[in-house]
Amino acid sequence: MSFVEELFGLKDKFAIVTGASRGLGRAAAVALSSAGAKVVLVGRDVEALKETLALLPTPGSMIVEADVTNDEGRARTIALALKMFGRIDILINNAGIIRRSPAVSYSSEDWNAVIDTNLTATFHWAQDVGNAMIRNGGGKIVNIASVLSYGGGMNVVAYAAAKGGVAQLTKALANEWAKKNVNVNAIAPGYFVTNATEALRHDPDRSAQILARIPAGRWGSPEDLAGAFVFLCSDASKYMHGHILAVDGGYLSL
Ligand code: NDP
Repeated sequence: MSFVEELFGLKDKFAIVTGASRGLGRAAAVALSSAGAKVVLVGRDVEALKETLALLPTPGSMIVEADVTNDEGRARTIALALKMFGRIDILINNAGIIRRSPAVSYSSEDWNAVIDTNLTATFHWAQDVGNAMIRNGGGKIVNIASVLSYGGGMNVVAYAAAKGGVAQLTKALANEWAKKNVNVNAIAPGYFVTNATEALRHDPDRSAQILARIPAGRWGSPEDLAGAFVFLCSDASKYMHGHILAVDGGYLSL
């Protein structure tokens, strides 16, 4: 095995990716599989999950239909992964939603949906998979934060609150679990071309403002995250705990 394969390879690793049916979760699944991992693809849209499965180069991955906010769905997914694979080495805690509306009229329904999906579910998946990892001697958890873990954005009050929480959650879990050989880190993507940003990309004023603030001069494409996913899931990052890795075309540096 070459030096690079030893450091970054994920052969014989078993992963769960939530929100793997499209966008950044699909890119994570493809990246991990390309590095050799077998992946449990979690989401609600089974047809789209099948499309992701068809893209994976390493055989042995599978689909689980589950809502990440549902306790039964989470327990069923984790039990199935442990039954099939015997252990879980990697969790990509990616599933997320965004609801845009001014704060003065932001509905409780939108607030609860965004906080439940983006923050509470992220904690519960990390907690349950983290317990399994600790029992098995270690693992890698990668949460998906955002540049809105730092800035508050416009008309996304619940999303910014949740993603700020994801950054803090990452550090809190990292502190408790570092000695147990569980690396908890996060990726903070900038602005990426996915379904979640479609409305924003079609708003001429906001999309121009955003583009003007990206030193790289373009929005990210999901594949731009492949290296960060593999790095944070591999031995190459074994001494990293509680880090929030921005992959943002320089957005946060401006
Ligand atoms: P998409 O809307 O393209 O994909 C969202 C994914 O999350 C889908 O696979 C969807 O699966 C899944 N999902 C949402 N809610 C649930 C649920 N209740 N149960 C199960 N799965 C769910 O969004 P992105 O790929 O852009 O976003 C992925 C993550 O990246 C999110 O956490 C987002 O906040 C974050 N992010 C995105 C950025 C961007 O610019 N795109 C920037 C910063 C962060 P399904 O429909 O099958 O249930």
